[in-house]
Amino acid sequence: MARSSSLIAGRLALDFANTASAGRDLSWEEFVSFLVDAHVVTEERASRLRPLLAAEPQTIDTVLLKTLRFRESLRAIFAAVSARKSFPRNWVEPINDILRITEGHDELTLQLEAWRLQFMARESGLEWLLAAIARSAAELIVEGPEAPIRRCANPACRLFFYDDSRTHRRRWCSMSSCGNRHKVAAFLRRRTTRRRDE
Ligand SMILES: [Zn+2]
Repeated sequence: MARSSSLIAGRLALDFANTASAGRDLSWEEFVSFLVDAHVVTEERASRLRPLLAAEPQTIDTVLLKTLRFRESLRAIFAAVSARKSFPRNWVEPINDILRITEGHDELTLQLEAWRLQFMARESGLEWLLAAIARSAAELIVEGPEAPIRRCANPACRLFFYDDSRTHRRRWCSMSSCGNRHKVAAFLRRRTTRRRDE
């Protein structure tokens, strides 16, 4: 599954915030696929969610709008925390809204031969799809200003990630993409400089 490689942040809420990096809205298909990749819903559940776009377009429109607003508020908060800045307290309202309406419990499920804790909502509406993300965001906020939320040092990338590396000096979303690109650029720069010196 090549798509899973886009989940580089180490925390669900940060990966969700990163889905905005494509620079556009989120389609229903993309949102459902994200939830599968992030193990929020099973593939079996997803196959029942996908057809809702055709069956209940109004409902899906409303959920997507709420999802986008929610994502924008997460991005604003994470951007503030990663810059070691405080943020207005009402910014957490969209998170509380989701936490408030999504009652449920965690259950052990077996996915791809691995046990996972999966959120089981009592809510019959579709807001429960955001519950696990809201919970993850809330946990990050509770960590406070010292939470190691960082952004990729590549100015063209800026993906969020949770730096739980041993040295706490992770700079790149992933070494294989941005990290290596940087190394190659630095190498070429050095070589050009050296040639100029010769
Ligand atoms: Zn990057």
